[in-house]
Amino acid sequence: MTKLKIENLSKTYSNGVKALDNINLEITNGMFGLLGPNGAGKSTLMRTLASLQEADSGSAWLDDINILKDPTAVRKVLGYLPQEFGVYPKITAQQLLDHIAVLKGISSSKERKELVNYLLQKVNLYDKRNKSVKGFSGGMKQRVGIAQALIGNPKLIIVDEPTAGLDPGERNRFHNLLADVGREVIVILSTHIVDDVRELCTEMAIMHLGKIVYQGSPAAAMEDIHGRVWQKTIEREELEQYQQEYTIISEKMIAGKPIVHIYRESNPGEGFKPVEPNLEDVFFTRIHQAGTEVNLVN
Ligand code: ADP
Repeated sequence: MTKLKIENLSKTYSNGVKALDNINLEITNGMFGLLGPNGAGKSTLMRTLASLQEADSGSAWLDDINILKDPTAVRKVLGYLPQEFGVYPKITAQQLLDHIAVLKGISSSKERKELVNYLLQKVNLYDKRNKSVKGFSGGMKQRVGIAQALIGNPKLIIVDEPTAGLDPGERNRFHNLLADVGREVIVILSTHIVDDVRELCTEMAIMHLGKIVYQGSPAAAMEDIHGRVWQKTIEREELEQYQQEYTIISEKMIAGKPIVHIYRESNPGEGFKPVEPNLEDVFFTRIHQAGTEVNLVN
């Protein structure tokens, strides 16, 4: 069992933005979802854990490796799939993975060949191994990205915003692959897409304005706000009025009519009905509550 322990991690950029504000997290094997809106600080946290940038204070340990002090040791046990996996032009999937295996220090060509073939099979690209990665679809490129992240038996795999731009079929295949990988190591999936976390993660944290505003399982998060989420189908013309009158935590259109969810301790009346909270409700409730607290402080 691998453990990642982050304590009091903080980072303020030179422009004064506090991207990490005293982050505390403990993460063990499995798929962990780091959910937050754009600008929450997710990439800053992921890049810090990948030892690609430094924090101002605090600590992060991966088992007995001091991530902030020993970047070389971290890189040996880390698989990192950045937001945009840059690929080399006119190089085949097999050549690309072989090249990365060289960079990761696997010097025996026989060992590399076996590993690369194994990984190509694992990500279901073996049949395409001699095709140029440049011509791959977004989903296939992401699977190459996962294959390269798996080189060197990582203990920690960091995946930053992986499904943006994938079609539903590709996204599904990518999810299945991640779920498979996540059984053996720690996989941190950083995303602003609630569905990615709902479908994949047993544990999660919600991040907002550099702070962790929730950590627990998605199920417990929904249970926490049970009985306080209310739903109503309204007319499109009424939406603006409702937005002003209530704090709408989620809305979706069904057959052209908005269905709005609001958060209230007690029944708001006015035709609102109680509804089982979903993860989107959790996300917006937590973000809203954190935002309100921040406003109160300022
Ligand atoms: P996320 O990945 O959740 O979108 P980021 O970590 O990219 O969040 O950004 C967190 C905050 O830090 C944002 O306000 C962003 O504008 C700011 N930020 C990110 N990188 C830099 C940087 N290199 N210099 C200054 N500000 C930055």
